[in-house]
Amino acid sequence: MPEASKNLQEKIRELQKIIYRAVTDLDKCISCGTCVFYCPLKIRVFNNEGKAVTIKTNKSCGGCSVCVKRCKNKAISLIVLRKK
Ligand code: SF4
Ligand code: SF4
Repeated sequence: MPEASKNLQEKIRELQKIIYRAVTDLDKCISCGTCVFYCPLKIRVFNNEGKAVTIKTNKSCGGCSVCVKRCKNKAISLIVLRKK
């Protein structure tokens, strides 16, 4: 296998080990719905208290940061975890 392809395969394997979590600071969320509207995977929803949270579905957060950037109240943090 050419060296460039090997490096690319290695990079893909590394990226597959990364897990993203978009976590809401519930005290800062003003329930505007912007993140719910813009999340491309539709995994941001309102909880029972009307605050926006990320739910677990068969689609995992892709770490695109759209919700983080769109939230005017800076209520969302993107946490990067690594699978063992
Ligand atoms: S964009 Fe921010 S303030 Fe608005 S619903 Fe989402 S987390 Fe809450
Ligand atoms: S980072 Fe992207 S995929 Fe993940 S919850 Fe936010 S908008 Fe959705």
